[in-house]
Amino acid sequence: MANIIDGKAVSAQVKEDIRQEVEQLKAKGIEIGLAVVIVGDDPASQVYVKNKEKACETVGFNSYKYALPAETTEEELLALVDKLNKDDKVDGILVQLPLPKHLDDKIIINNIRPDKDVDAFHPVNVGKIMIGDYSFLPCTPAGVMELIKSTGTDVAGKECVVIGRSNIVGKPQAMLLLHQNGTVTITHSKTKNLKEVCARADILVAAVGRAKMVKADYIKEGAVVIDVGMNRDENGKLCGDVDFEDCKEKAGYITPVPGGVGPMTIAMLMKNTLTAGKEHHGVN
Ligand code: NDP
Repeated sequence: MANIIDGKAVSAQVKEDIRQEVEQLKAKGIEIGLAVVIVGDDPASQVYVKNKEKACETVGFNSYKYALPAETTEEELLALVDKLNKDDKVDGILVQLPLPKHLDDKIIINNIRPDKDVDAFHPVNVGKIMIGDYSFLPCTPAGVMELIKSTGTDVAGKECVVIGRSNIVGKPQAMLLLHQNGTVTITHSKTKNLKEVCARADILVAAVGRAKMVKADYIKEGAVVIDVGMNRDENGKLCGDVDFEDCKEKAGYITPVPGGVGPMTIAMLMKNTLTAGKEHHGVN
């Protein structure tokens, strides 16, 4: 039986470390603020935003929520982003995606000040990740790295396979593994012999969006298996890209869904916001 990686416990520890640092900053009169902008009434987005507000409360950040109606125009949203860019109380800005169809994610993100872009989606931050000179790491891939670290696994020299090449998970994930000297293969929907490629991996990260696609024959005995996927199974139950029941005997370490990568994403958002706040206040 594999060791189950407890994302809730790891994320709680990350948040506790942040909380303590925030307390010390407050004693020096420094407060950290995160602005979260949500447009429309997508139910999943509402839940994510609520969880982000809750996390802010846990670590001691000020959170500023801007809930805008679905028919908000690009001009109106950009005006809000501009206001938040200039607001000294706001250290981090997060625009919850996806935006309603008439709004272009790219235009909005490109207008967030890079040093307040705590999601690390702005092209400047994406470029910095590429060259390994960054302040912010994209939250989900950074959370995955923390989970790998929690297993005591040294990434250096390991065969790492990432399934998925999206801009928010797969590609940055591969870069972070590479920065830690993994030998990295990125796979996608056109990859041939996916099963065989995955079965080479000492560290396998699945970010596909296909319920329980990764079966035991995709994994190497003893591998670290990290499941980013968030899907619904045939009964409407939340599940990952990895068939947990099928893989749990063969993997060395495995993340559950829920309770694996999910909680880490928000914890890493808090970490980025703290980094931004410290930079803005000139604290190391
Ligand atoms: P995308 O849909 O943007 O990307 C999916 C990737 O998987 C694509 O690169 C695609 O390949 C690849 N893919 C699709 N089908 C196959 C296949 N049969 N074999 C191999 N590769 C395939 O998804 P995201 O990266 O945004 O998200 C992936 C999953 O992670 C989703 O379930 C999402 O909900 C979840 N997620 C979870 C987060 C968390 O906090 N836990 C945060 C973000 C995402 P191609 O490029 O060729 O189309």
